[in-house]
Amino acid sequence: MLTDVEIAQSAKMKPISEIAQKLGLEDDDLELYGKYKAKIALEAINRLENNPDGKLVLVTAINPTPAGEGKTTTMIGLSQALNKLGKKSVVAMREPSLGPCFGIKGGAAGGGYAQVVPMEDINLHFTGDIHAITAANNLIAAMLDNSIHQGNPLNIDVRNIVWKRVVDLNDRALRNTICGLGGKLNGVPREDGFDITVASEVMAILCLATSLEDLKERAGKMIVAYNYDGNPVTVNDIEATGAVTLLLKDAIKPNLVQTLDHTPVFVHGGPFANIAHGCNSVMATKLAIKLGDYAITEAGFGADLGAEKFLDIKCRQANLDPQAVVIVATVRALKMHGGVDKKELSTENLEALAKGIKNLEKHIENIAKYNLPSVVAINAFPTDTEAELQLLKDTCNKMGVDVAISKVWEKGADGGIELAEKLLEILDTKEANYQPLYDLDLSIKEKIETIAKEIYGADGVVFDKKVLTKMKKYEAQGLANLPICVAKTQYSLSDQPTLLGRPSGFTVKINDLIPSAGAGFLVAISGSIMRMPGLPKRPAAVNMDIDKDGKIVGLF
Ligand code: ADP
Ligand code: MG
Repeated sequence: MLTDVEIAQSAKMKPISEIAQKLGLEDDDLELYGKYKAKIALEAINRLENNPDGKLVLVTAINPTPAGEGKTTTMIGLSQALNKLGKKSVVAMREPSLGPCFGIKGGAAGGGYAQVVPMEDINLHFTGDIHAITAANNLIAAMLDNSIHQGNPLNIDVRNIVWKRVVDLNDRALRNTICGLGGKLNGVPREDGFDITVASEVMAILCLATSLEDLKERAGKMIVAYNYDGNPVTVNDIEATGAVTLLLKDAIKPNLVQTLDHTPVFVHGGPFANIAHGCNSVMATKLAIKLGDYAITEAGFGADLGAEKFLDIKCRQANLDPQAVVIVATVRALKMHGGVDKKELSTENLEALAKGIKNLEKHIENIAKYNLPSVVAINAFPTDTEAELQLLKDTCNKMGVDVAISKVWEKGADGGIELAEKLLEILDTKEANYQPLYDLDLSIKEKIETIAKEIYGADGVVFDKKVLTKMKKYEAQGLANLPICVAKTQYSLSDQPTLLGRPSGFTVKINDLIPSAGAGFLVAISGSIMRMPGLPKRPAAVNMDIDKDGKIVGLF
């Protein structure tokens, strides 16, 4: 098997104008970034508003292993297969961050024969959206510190600044810094720090905005600090709203690229799936719905985080009406949930697999709570044995859930036909009446408890005293009716990464509550959530190179 980058580089891409034309877009609708990438003009998006809606399908997964379980790969391959069956299917997906790319994970534009190209560009600077977000975020930081330096008219409490600077790399040395050193001319010294760009609230608002106007409104509401009376200071207060929106004027437009089979893909936005909602932009999803008969999208991490937020935050805010959910499961991860050590995952172990399936079972039950049909996609790895695949399939059948084996990584579209046909059958025969899990009118406490009990299977929630105090404060500030964005470990249904499978008899601890007032959700934090990852001992970057002819290696 060739590496992902070898497969991608040997692909013969079609000019992006051709892909756009097949989608029903005109040349004037495109803003070309070279031959193979284009942004879609806002006028085109407005014009398409009256097109009928295609069917929206979410791809999510069981609780993952550290390597990821193949959601992106499965989503891309599924869309390739649907197109091969003569259906007009469009993908809307997230743009990878440079941090994980040079860290452990490598590229995130699919894998094997289910990839989006040009993968080098998508994984590197692409059309500059993430850099624009970095600039917008840091302009806010600069204007905030300047306001303090220029006499602090907003009475900002320098010990209570919540806006960090960002850079889109894994750089642990920047987590905690002191800025403003060097005397009177160089600002007011204070403790500061950096987050990775994709953790910035600017990324979250870009992904939830439905127009430039909406983006501006959200930008203005973002809270950057608190004043000495304890009241929030916003981007509007520091008068940065217009300039921030201006910096994002191109980043807001979805990017069109293609799969290895020349089928259309929008790659746009990529917020964290813990402290943010983990989905590509609403604008890209809406475009996929308006241009495709089928719009396939994904949400980060497992279904307890990704799907829950897609359904309770994104679909609710953007008025989306999903029709089905694909739950990706792998034999490897299920064996891990059944107690097998990470190093032993390549050895057949039916007993552990049978035990681990409990994790999948919970996610299937959860999707039904949203009144949506689901299908399990078994993402087959070369190390899976026939007996393991059969056992997983049989168990799904016994549970009464639709299931298909997906070999899109190995075979591209051909490996996804079984899954595509299953999905089409479900869309035709099963009813979907999407409804969110909880009502926004519930109290903040009740909303968090509902998610923990219904989705994670917890007995209850233990709130830090500080959190209870903050709840009262936010209720007084009119933030009580926002949806909840839980930040917890992705490895377990619980808040403890080592509780695998389908844990029970646990409580979830919430130790902080932070409003993302622009994005429009309250982040409930469980444990310590990393907003600036570090590099491993031997980062993926060590193996990357480019030669004199531009040939790239090591980008997975
Ligand atoms: P996720 O979106 O769930 O994080 P990805 O689709 O990005 O996962 O896949 C994670 C990694 O696993 C990628 O490097 C991809 O190439 C690889 N991968 C995915 N599916 C398979 C498979 N069936 N066999 C081998 N490798 C796979
Ligand atoms: Mg992914």
